[in-house]
Amino acid sequence: MARKEMNLTGKLKQYFGFDKFKGDQEAIIRNLLDGNDTFVLMPTGGGKSLCYQLPSLIMDGMAIVISPLIALMKNQVDVINGISEEEGVAHYLNSSLNKASIDHVKADILCGKTKLLYVAPESLTKEEYVSFLKGVKISFYAIDEAHCISEWGHDFRPEYRRIRPLINEIGIAPVIALTATATDKVRTDIKKNLGIADAKEFKSSFNRPNLYYEVRAKTQDIDKQIIKFIRQHQGKSGIVYCLSRKTVEELAAVLCANDIKAAPYHAGLDSAKRSQTQDAFLMERIDVIVATIAFGMGIDKPDVRFVIHYDIPKSLEGYYQETGRAGRDGGEGLCITFYSNNDLRKLEKFMEGKPVAEQDIGRQLLQETAAYAESSVCRRKMLLHYFGETYEKANCGNCDNCLHPKTKIEGMNALLIVLCAIAAIKENFRTDYVIDFVTGRPTDDIVSHKHNELEEFGAGEDEDPHIWNPVIRQALIAGYLKKDVENYGLLKLTASGKKFIKSPQSFMIVEDKDFSEEDESDRGEARTVALDPALYAMLKDLRKTTAEKLGVPPYVVFQDVSLEQMATMYPVNLAELQNIQGVGAGKAKRYGEPFCRLIADHCKENDIERPEELRVRTVAKKSIQKVKIIQAIDRQIALDDIATAEGIDFDDLLNEVEAIVYSGTKLNIDYFLDDVLDEEHVEDIYSYFSESDTDDLETAMQELGDDYSETEIRLVRIKFLSEMAN
Ligand code: ADP
Ligand code: MG
Repeated sequence: MARKEMNLTGKLKQYFGFDKFKGDQEAIIRNLLDGNDTFVLMPTGGGKSLCYQLPSLIMDGMAIVISPLIALMKNQVDVINGISEEEGVAHYLNSSLNKASIDHVKADILCGKTKLLYVAPESLTKEEYVSFLKGVKISFYAIDEAHCISEWGHDFRPEYRRIRPLINEIGIAPVIALTATATDKVRTDIKKNLGIADAKEFKSSFNRPNLYYEVRAKTQDIDKQIIKFIRQHQGKSGIVYCLSRKTVEELAAVLCANDIKAAPYHAGLDSAKRSQTQDAFLMERIDVIVATIAFGMGIDKPDVRFVIHYDIPKSLEGYYQETGRAGRDGGEGLCITFYSNNDLRKLEKFMEGKPVAEQDIGRQLLQETAAYAESSVCRRKMLLHYFGETYEKANCGNCDNCLHPKTKIEGMNALLIVLCAIAAIKENFRTDYVIDFVTGRPTDDIVSHKHNELEEFGAGEDEDPHIWNPVIRQALIAGYLKKDVENYGLLKLTASGKKFIKSPQSFMIVEDKDFSEEDESDRGEARTVALDPALYAMLKDLRKTTAEKLGVPPYVVFQDVSLEQMATMYPVNLAELQNIQGVGAGKAKRYGEPFCRLIADHCKENDIERPEELRVRTVAKKSIQKVKIIQAIDRQIALDDIATAEGIDFDDLLNEVEAIVYSGTKLNIDYFLDDVLDEEHVEDIYSYFSESDTDDLETAMQELGDDYSETEIRLVRIKFLSEMAN
């Protein structure tokens, strides 16, 4: 064919100014030019867009590109129009356009100017567009981010399922599907659903040798670890992914409080704010973006040096995409993930509200992530295996597991037990079931299949119960087992698995990491352990003299817990002082100065090195409810009405209000006291507190209890503390 001779490199240079194709680009483009369906699997940043952009400019007719990312369409269209001599070579249709713009696009298409039309899947389904496009000659269809077709991908979009019927309606033409993530399962789904079973597949290696993978136990001091890590990589660009918007906001605030140039990014922020943040990151006015997964789709910053996962990702597909944003230029890319069993349980719990089928998929994807995190096998090997690629090297030299390898143990016997068990239950069950079976747990499921009556049931009772997960995972990687693609997750024997049963051989494995212990270990109240008794005594003295001078009881100045913490954390300025429990801005300002001076002097005199980690500043994390309560009180809404509005009972409201006041915020509840208490009564209780040397409620009840109710006492105590202590 004449086309074969076409000088594509010349076209590449002519249109895009690039000198040569990247990876498989040329072969992909030729395949499409020849009129064949094409399937492209290329990691993020590999250059997928060009695989449809260039042929669209060469071929007769107009190409339709289906892409879920409305925000990126404009960008891509601008790029194409920027390199074209004529206007209108590329256009897009999506919900953001008004009537006039749509008419303009249609006119350009009808006069044949337009070679490339980007459409959002939900727009394509509109009858109006379908009938319009029927009259247009289509060169081919490109389905970008094709994993959106599959429920097993990390970003399922139901509208993507309707693409094939729409193509049939608009007019048949070759299809090119492109994605950066696809397990066997997702790949099968895509081909089936798009009806391109015979498509030629172009799969580039997914290995990113420059990315370093590490999984750390997520402990209470995660914020400190992250701050420390970022400080060690000062001035470099990085992304921290969190699962919830709330965590994003909080962590970004903590980072900022620690002089790190960071900003939050999530779908709840308005689009102006988001693009502003994105620009600031690209221009390096901001070093670190704290984001939900909404950030990063299509962002092309080549020198992101680290990607941190604050929470366990929901799927390895997502994880791989997100880590893939590090080190695109081939330079350093550190990928650190924090993992805890607790997070896993939380996510599983979270899924319970969803439809059963979706839950099942979600749970299995989550299990894959957990397997990845807990395993001591080379991370690279596991990831590539997950994406259907074999990594041959024994040690990749660039992940935590390869840098600190565990000693291997013999797993031959355990593997034999597993393989025989899987054969016995007819290769029809998933990992959890197999483990229950070999360990001899007669679950309802097992009993209903009468599998507890089989000889192989409980064959592994004598082995360490922790061995089974690693054995099965490593047998999958070694190719003794495979997971079924049709019925995802069912464990099947491979040919070498069957051979192993006949003649077993050594199978060296590494045990999993145990994340459950680390989970609990840091939970204890370590706070007062390191209390400095000399300092504590001096702080108490200072409190006493301060209180006497001001004519208030000592606890009004600072509570005991606050002094204890000061004697542990050594805050030396007002900002640090506000990190101390029970000290808010007001209190710090009012009483803090001499305390900070005392602590600073004490540190100097005794050569006390304040622990590095304690210099991490936190931000006041007022819960949304607390903020609402404060606002309501400012608007003088009756306290019982606030409780009703918040859906809590009155006592709980008082607890909240007390917590607010104790942490140093001034509240004026006089308007409410005027309504519910006599003035003399207020005065009576108030004077009790000014004279008493404790704010303890029990003691107050004993003293005043005959005349006043607990609620009355608490209300006046709030007034008192607010006025005197804050
Ligand atoms: P993907 O969609 O696979 O993540 P893109 O299509 O966005 O990747 O391309 C990533 C980057 O690579 C873009 O900046 C693009 O301009 C660049 N690129 C693509 N093909 C080539 C090429 N042949 N030579 C140089 N740069 C290229
Ligand atoms: Mg792309």
